[in-house]
Amino acid sequence: MRRQDNAVPDEDSGQPDDAARLCVECGLCCNGALFTHAKLEPSETDRAPSSTTTPEGGPAFHLPCPLLTDAGCSIYETRFGICRSFRCALLRRVTAGEVGIDEGLARVAEAKRLIARATDGAPTGATIAERLRLGPPTVSLDGDGGSTRTSAQQYLASVAVDMHLDRHFRIRNKRFGMAS
Ligand code: SF4
Ligand code: SF4
Repeated sequence: MRRQDNAVPDEDSGQPDDAARLCVECGLCCNGALFTHAKLEPSETDRAPSSTTTPEGGPAFHLPCPLLTDAGCSIYETRFGICRSFRCALLRRVTAGEVGIDEGLARVAEAKRLIARATDGAPTGATIAERLRLGPPTVSLDGDGGSTRTSAQQYLASVAVDMHLDRHFRIRNKRFGMAS
């Protein structure tokens, strides 16, 4: 989960600086691009920013997380257990040395570029997740060609985002809830 710029990562990693750099630049697991919610421990529910449940019925909060700021997590020192333990596929590969930090940062930048393209012009106020999950366009074969093309292009752009996130960030293509 996204760290503050001056925070020290707590994973037992051979390359902690790389892990910190990657997460500071990223934030996709907090901002709703990767997941719709994050699970909570029962003891954490009273300070959660929102309330929902996992498919199994356990406590969770909605993503994007309102505690995420431009500087990173605003409650970094007291963040939730899932925020401490979650490590996406890319972070695991970078800390294992399987992917270099420059390549890791490039994958984050590409994810952000694809998301910006896919959400351009989406309804004001919609979250990244909502914009990316609008679903396939309703295409009228004899309809308005201009708006249909725009809708189809945005749908294809959303698919490109999902493919990039599945390939580089998600673990087993899991997308509904964040779990460690
Ligand atoms: S998605 Fe991965 S790289 Fe990005 S902030 Fe979360 S753990 Fe770090
Ligand atoms: S509390 Fe929110 S911003 Fe902080 S690490 Fe967890 S999900 Fe991210």
